[in-house]
Amino acid sequence: MKIKIWGCRGSLATPGRQTLRYGGNTTCVEVRTQDGREIILDAGSGLYKLGKSLVAESAFAPVLMLFTHAHWDHLCGFPFFDLAYLPQCEITLCGGPAAQKSLQTYLGRQMEPPYFPVPFERLQARIDYGCECSRPCEGKIAAMNCGRFCRSIRLNHPNGGYGFKLQEQGKTFVFLPDNELGFHHENGPGFADFVEFCRDADLLFHDAQYTDAEYERTRGWGHSSYADAVRMACEAGVKRLGLFHHDPTRTDDDLDRQVECCREQLRNAGSGVDCFGCAEEMVIDL
Ligand SMILES: [Zn+2]
Ligand SMILES: [Zn+2]
Repeated sequence: MKIKIWGCRGSLATPGRQTLRYGGNTTCVEVRTQDGREIILDAGSGLYKLGKSLVAESAFAPVLMLFTHAHWDHLCGFPFFDLAYLPQCEITLCGGPAAQKSLQTYLGRQMEPPYFPVPFERLQARIDYGCECSRPCEGKIAAMNCGRFCRSIRLNHPNGGYGFKLQEQGKTFVFLPDNELGFHHENGPGFADFVEFCRDADLLFHDAQYTDAEYERTRGWGHSSYADAVRMACEAGVKRLGLFHHDPTRTDDDLDRQVECCREQLRNAGSGVDCFGCAEEMVIDL
């Protein structure tokens, strides 16, 4: 599968000269499978450019959109997604096990007046909430030939949500953009559950928003420290760790420094995990 990052900023879009290299758009990741399926993970502000790019290459194949949760930074691009306005497009929306009803509600609500001029009902694409998946993800995903392609796990995050594991041809990509490893939220899994879920993954994008010092006052906000993300990836034996959901205050130079600290932590632990900072427009072939 081919993975492209369209947005990896956390909480709030932060365009500007100091975020040019890692990018300022919020969460949106495109996964194109070997057999040409188009999967979109979250609809943050990065979705806007992805939509333009799909139209430019006339890529109107059915799209499966997987939503981790309903926080604004993961939804705000949806009303600006060109494919949603084209009658020849088919979009299947999935919000994790048993979350279809809430998904329909929160996507529709952000387009109600006076928040947005076009109501959800006026979108022209065929929109399907077919996914009735229960753990492991089935339903519409299976109907799209995903079969054992996708697994989900609850996020440890305020208001809940789901993280996803995509597998194809022996390669595994895990997506946990908003996940706090150092604090227990209601119904959230524990550290060991995430280690198990990520075991031996080829690629993991994990929330890494805070330094240890910042985490002293942000504990419980739903995001992980760099150190916890690295420790989890290390214990799970993942091959590559992409630090994700960059704090809006973080400049490119700050992020370079944090990536270097994470690499040092890994060297000290004698770990072979390859760690990098996720950046907009980065493409990874698995
Ligand atoms: Zn977020
Ligand atoms: Zn969130």
